[in-house]
Amino acid sequence: MTAAVIDGKAFAATLRARIADLAAAFELQAGRKAGLAVVLVGEDPASQVYVRSKGKSTIEAGMASFEHKLPADTAEADLLALVDRLNADPAVDGILVQLPLPRHIDEQKVIAAINPDKDVDGFHVTNAGRLAVGQPGFVPCTPLGCLMLLKDRLGDLSGLDAVVIGRSNIVGKPMAQLLIGESCTVTVAHSRTRNLADVVRRADIVVAAVGRPEMVKGDWIKPGATVIDVGINRVPGAAEGKTRLVGDVDYASAAAVASAITPVPGGVGPMTIAVLLRNALVAAWRNAGLELPADAI
Ligand code: NDP
Repeated sequence: MTAAVIDGKAFAATLRARIADLAAAFELQAGRKAGLAVVLVGEDPASQVYVRSKGKSTIEAGMASFEHKLPADTAEADLLALVDRLNADPAVDGILVQLPLPRHIDEQKVIAAINPDKDVDGFHVTNAGRLAVGQPGFVPCTPLGCLMLLKDRLGDLSGLDAVVIGRSNIVGKPMAQLLIGESCTVTVAHSRTRNLADVVRRADIVVAAVGRPEMVKGDWIKPGATVIDVGINRVPGAAEGKTRLVGDVDYASAAAVASAITPVPGGVGPMTIAVLLRNALVAAWRNAGLELPADAI
């Protein structure tokens, strides 16, 4: 068997087109654009790339982008004051503080300062709690993107065995909550899990969010399973001095057994920003007290 490739890039492009239509509809009804503020502290090169790309995608979707770039030595109190101003700004529907923050700033304190109704990253404990008890809130972008890909591929997920490898607050835990919400039987594996290969072999759905290049091998995968590879790992490339990206799953051996699999790059990665725009737009409709068309995004 050769697995079908789950094309996250194409799915994300379609989602972004829908978001652009809804952003235009929002602007007509609200008399203003939906707005997303992105805050970057310091000069981390990867974070700079992410922030630039988030700003560009926001504008392409017809939304307003507010970029705040602060020096690495910004005091925690000054960052908290900026978050307060953004909380109070009616033009700002969503606030994203790019992580990681410099070490002298307490990330949890900053996340806690964001108004949960503008927390489009879904990292605030209020949103984690809402997800856990099944109330509407904001769900972290990467796992929500994974769920969209799974539902697009499989339709109804109820009754399926799902194994999530990784238990981070950003990916693994919210992914598990989402799958429970879809009535899957969910196992969460992590670095202390015994006989991981045997655990993974039970799964109809495998979500790998580990950060270890090509750790999950093809002979861990149940024939016909659907594999979502969240990992983004940079490893040495074929040519000297060059690098390439690989996932947490050994793609070639897994694709020989699975029924469908996300590639790296081009699978989960492109979904993350598309879902961020989706969350920002949902925030805008909610914050403006307007009714988002049902099942629109
Ligand atoms: P974290 O490092 O926060 O979490 C990794 C998890 O993997 C932990 O729960 C850890 O277990 C578990 N783990 C580590 N080693 C093993 C092992 N040998 N066996 C089983 N489990 C193990 O990472 P993130 O969740 O933030 O990210 C995971 C991956 O996803 C990374 O490659 C990251 O780059 C990628 N990523 C991709 C995104 C995208 O947009 N596509 C967005 C976010 C992340 P324990 O808790 O016991 O330490």
